[in-house]
Amino acid sequence: MVGAVPPVNTLEQWIEPGVEPGVAPGRLERLRALLNTDDRFHGVDRLRAGAAGAAPREVREARDALRAFVVDGRPDALDAFAARRPLVLRVGTDGPRLAAADDVAGLLADVLEEHRSGRLQRLKACANPDCQWVYYDASRNRSGRWCSMGECGDVMKARAYRARGRA
Ligand SMILES: [Zn+2]
Repeated sequence: MVGAVPPVNTLEQWIEPGVEPGVAPGRLERLRALLNTDDRFHGVDRLRAGAAGAAPREVREARDALRAFVVDGRPDALDAFAARRPLVLRVGTDGPRLAAADDVAGLLADVLEEHRSGRLQRLKACANPDCQWVYYDASRNRSGRWCSMGECGDVMKARAYRARGRA
């Protein structure tokens, strides 16, 4: 059954790490960049409409399952996805590590590492419903709500002000 899942080692081709605002540290940025291929601000799914054409189905499934878990707190799809992408514990002279068969399974190893470190929980979708950009909340008490105060924060504050004015 495991062998029926085709390997995907072209992840870098589908993502654009380092796009502001809210760049994440280390390997977490790869994950954030994948989540943001579902670009709701522009209403574009970059895994379907990118310059390089459509990404493999497995990449889209991984993205959607990761987004459900990381952004919406729904683990089911990612749990099912992970069951098809087993990780193997390898032990070398530098200690034990989780080895993955391909890029997509490698994302799951990153999810485990980043969750344990508490960094995964800092990935959030912008509270502006017209934005929903996934950003890394670097605030001390993890209280950030918007991808950037300069843009979304001010937009949302202006909206709240107008809403109060109408009430
Ligand atoms: Zn935003």
